Amino acid sequence: MSRFISPSAAALAPYVPGEQPADRQYIKLNTNECPYPPAPAVAAALERAAREAALYPDPEAGALREAIAEAYGLRRENVLAANGSDEAIALACMTFFERGDAVYFPVPSYGFYPVYAQLFGLRARPLPLAEDFTVNVDHYIGLEGNIIIANPNAPTGIALPCGEIERILRGNPDRLVVVDEAYVDFAGDGVTALPLLEDYDNLLIIGTFSKSRAMAGLRLGYILSRPEHIAALERVRFSFHPYNVSRATQLAGIAAARDAGHLRTVLTRIVATRERVAEGLRAMGLEVLPSSTNFLFCALPGMGGGELGAKLREKGILVRWLDGPRTAAYIRVSIGNNGHMDAFLRAVREIIASR
Ligand SMILES: *Cc1c(COP(=O)(O)O)cnc(C)c1O
Repeated sequence: MSRFISPSAAALAPYVPGEQPADRQYIKLNTNECPYPPAPAVAAALERAAREAALYPDPEAGALREAIAEAYGLRRENVLAANGSDEAIALACMTFFERGDAVYFPVPSYGFYPVYAQLFGLRARPLPLAEDFTVNVDHYIGLEGNIIIANPNAPTGIALPCGEIERILRGNPDRLVVVDEAYVDFAGDGVTALPLLEDYDNLLIIGTFSKSRAMAGLRLGYILSRPEHIAALERVRFSFHPYNVSRATQLAGIAAARDAGHLRTVLTRIVATRERVAEGLRAMGLEVLPSSTNFLFCALPGMGGGELGAKLREKGILVRWLDGPRTAAYIRVSIGNNGHMDAFLRAVREIIASR
């Protein structure tokens, strides 16, 4: 450790990303990446960006925000663009939380929430999921701090209907409710909190191009909210990193945001594969939580998730295992293409047969 590191930096417990191995070819089902390429126009956008690489990007990301706004029936003033939704969440923390504030979030959920709580000096108030891994909305009424909630939740894959998010908004009218919708495109109708933006001024929706739009490598996230909240976030962004979204990512994001047809095609494929794999796993005796995402959270009775994950790794397949009292029995498996998932099902069958 550096002898110059500050005590608060030394005390951090950083986020641990899923492995991105270089040692051999794996079937990567561990970080919820999209197995299909992004919208075809993204390639041309990146070629243009290569020619324009000497120039700084638009610090307002105006055209990109316009394109995202249009995809959601909003105006540019309702949109903030960020370098991945992780940065979007960080900007929200920096803008709307003061050091020492309480922040409420479910557990287990996205591992970044406690990390950011620590980084920004917030008092983390994790609220355990119910026995069946659902968010117990009754616990989210009248809280004494802002709320961050992933919907659908990760790593469980379970979604709350939009009406339940509305109950949280109504139950905390003077608290900000940040809804992380990284997986909402895979959830079908009635999940996104988008229709609530009109009636609730305490709602921030976080989205990403990393999952359904197949752009994890380009880093693009966004926030949808009321114009006054976006303006507040922009104050902080311009005090931190005005060029946070690269020229390449802005151009690619515009191309992707405009191609609703490609998005629909990808979603249809992934959801069909997800349901087929869930059925195959259940037929082999695994417990599989109902998923509204591009991953499955599942357990093989009698074998811990760590052991199952290690056996799959030996067979060339990477999945995510999260240690912890509620998650250790499970693995989280991203939905790849049909070939990837056939290989995964075959590997699970072999593991069961050989024990
Ligand atoms: C993947 C993920 C993100 C982060 O996405 P990026 O836009 O790639 O930073 C945010 N929240 C949840 C719940 C995720 O699973």
